[in-house]
Formats: sequence, structure tokens, C-alpha cells
Amino acid sequence: MFRISQYMRELAQAHRGGVYPAPRRAAAGGSMTGPVVIWNLIRRCNLTCQHCYALSADHEYSGELSGAEVGTVMDDLKAFHVPVLILSGGEPLMRPDIFEIAARAKAMRFYIGLSTNGTLIDEPMADRVAAAGFDYVGISLDGLRETHDKFRRLDGAFDRSLAAVRLLHARGVKVGLRFTMTAMNAHDLPALLQLMRDEQVDKFYFSHLNYAGRGNIHRGRDAQFAATREAMDLLFETAWQAALEGRDEEYVTGNNDADGPYLLQWVAEHLPHLSPLVHESLRQRLVAWGGNSSGVNVANIDNLGNVHPDTMWWHHTLGNVRERPFSAIWADTSDPLMAGLKARRRPVGGRCGGCAHFAICGGNTRVRAQQLTGNAWAEDPGCYLSDAEIGVSGNGERVKVTAFSGGRKRVGVPVVAG
Ligand code: SF4
Repeated sequence: MFRISQYMRELAQAHRGGVYPAPRRAAAGGSMTGPVVIWNLIRRCNLTCQHCYALSADHEYSGELSGAEVGTVMDDLKAFHVPVLILSGGEPLMRPDIFEIAARAKAMRFYIGLSTNGTLIDEPMADRVAAAGFDYVGISLDGLRETHDKFRRLDGAFDRSLAAVRLLHARGVKVGLRFTMTAMNAHDLPALLQLMRDEQVDKFYFSHLNYAGRGNIHRGRDAQFAATREAMDLLFETAWQAALEGRDEEYVTGNNDADGPYLLQWVAEHLPHLSPLVHESLRQRLVAWGGNSSGVNVANIDNLGNVHPDTMWWHHTLGNVRERPFSAIWADTSDPLMAGLKARRRPVGGRCGGCAHFAICGGNTRVRAQQLTGNAWAEDPGCYLSDAEIGVSGNGERVKVTAFSGGRKRVGVPVVAG
């Protein structure tokens, strides 16, 4: 996750005082922190959204982890110093014991987030979500009414999700909007950002399209690079203004770590009055962030207990929590993909391998490379920076984003650069 607002607040501080603030010191024992775990507790969903990575539908899926098994896994996660659980699905509110699971997690002092489509949240459900003490609830909105209902394939979905935002907000729950951009909904981004302001929503999560599940089937509709850059410019400008005015709004992005170098470039172009030292301090902070953290700081457990490097890697399983504890699976680098993801410098080739910003971006999102080329270490075809911007003198040829034609590329994980 790329926290735009955090950098903009620091830049606003530098804008006022001339000095980039020192990084906050990690708490004692901070190096012992395990990954954030996104946990798909149920695959069933009342919707069948166009970009769903879980390919969910409204029927039961057999073999899902029982409540008792979830509890056992949670004990292991706690002992492994996992700080955050994002409870997801499918639609997690369709799981009958979701509030028992949340109560257990809360009692164990996890930070707990809920990732929901919001359509099931009426007044009584909002009361339950608020009482459960979720630290954060993310609700997906893919555009304004017409666009969202089309994406979600349900008339009225937008109104129900927006009502959920209001119901939770009224109960003091921290709420965020989650927006996945494609060529089909990019035009609604400005209006959604305005909606966020009007509704005083706490957070806006902008997700680039990743090529998993239905997101892969629809990859031919991924936003073009120009549209992506326009969207990022708008997000940066919006977050910058919020930081200048001291508004407590959070803007974050996911699934495209080229956002880091692009921010550096945006700041150079738009805030040239800041001193070279401030620009260099920002660069160092971005290097410390380091880009993509799948398999390192982000983990996924699916509804069947399979462990993946993140939610977009459901076609690559590292092990199952019924057979081995999560902590053992996560520490095991005998899997070549996991070894590569955990390498100090990932063995990424192509234009990413020669990129001047590799230390910031980390080679970006490996799933897109693997889905299009079969090689997990090829260039990320979703990078929207030009050859000149990344300091390579290629002939402009790129891995092309081709439409999905059925079937899946086999996972190719050579240990040498692709
Ligand atoms: S070329 Fe690769 S490493 Fe460089 S910014 Fe783009 S995605 Fe990141």
C-alpha cells in the first residue's frame, strides 16, 4: 500500500518549515512484526462483480475453515506477531460467525479491518459492526450510481453501499471508500473524490487493476497509461491540498508501486520551491518504503486455509494452515516464488531490472508479469512510466496487455532474472 497522504503531510511540513521531518522511530521490538494478513474467510458473495479476484458467487463453497480452525490459526498469527487482520471474502458479513471471529480477534488485540461491499449493512447490521469494534471498514464503490451498479451487476447497489457508509459514519466507525480503476470507470474518479469530501469519509483507497480472478479476465479493459497518470495527478493534487489545509483525509493506493517514483517526479514538477534536501529526503523515505511487499509484509489466507503471497496469487499456494501453521509456511523459502519475493533484491528482469527507481518500486506487481508472460520475474506490464522516466534506453517495446483468452498461464518462477 502506498500512503500518499503520509508523504504529503511531511511535504506540507517541509513547505512550512523548510525541513523534511525525521522518520518516526519504530517501537521497540518493531522488527519482530509479522505481515498484515488479508483473510478471505468466506468465498460466497451476494454480488458477482466484474473485477472480483476471488471469482465469488452467491452459493456455498465447501471445505471452508470452521470457526474452531480460524481460532487455532489466530493463535498462531498472534504468536507470529501479526499486527493486522483484514477480514474479507466473498462478502464477510455472509459468514454466520463473523462477529464471533471479530470478537476473538479484538480480544487478542489485533487491529481488525473489514472489507465489505456494504450492501448488507442496514441499521441493525451497522449497530453490530460498530459494536464489534472494527478499527476500519472499507466499502467498495466503483463509480457513481450507474457505473457502480453496472460493475456490481445489481441495481441499487450504489445506494445501499452509500447508505452503509453513512450508517457506519454516524456510529463513529472509521470508513474508507475502495475504488478499482479500469477504462470503464476512470471518468467517475473526480466525482467520487468529491463524494468522499461531501460525506466526510475518512479514507480513499485507489486500487490499480491487478490481473487475478475476474480482474484478469477483464484485463483488456485496464486503464491506459495516460488515464492512470491523470488519475494519479488528481490524487496527488487532492492529497496535497488536504495536507496544506490540515484536513485529516487519507489517500492511499495499491497494486502499482510505480506510484512511488511517479510521486517523486510529481513533487519535482509541482513543488520546485522545496529545497533539494527536501526532495532528497523524500526520495530516501520512498526507498525506505521499498515498494511491493507481497510475500513479505502482506500475506493472504483464503477460505480453504491456503496461504498465498497476497490476494492476487490464488493460483499459487504456499501451503495450507490445516497441515502446517501459517508461521511455518510463511518462513519457508523453499518455494521459488517465495524465495524470489523475499530476496533482498528481487530477481526481476526486463526494463524493471534496469530501472533507475527499482529501489523505490521493488519491481512492482509480479502477478501482472506472470499472467501475461508466464514468467513471474518479467517486467511489470502495468508500469505507466516511460523509458526516459526510468532511465533505460529501450526501443519502446513493452510486454503488451492482451485480452484474456481463457486458461491460465502456468506459474513460471525462474530464480534468474527474466
Ligand atoms: S520499470 Fe519496473 S521497477 Fe521501474 S518503476 Fe516501472 S514497474 Fe517499477
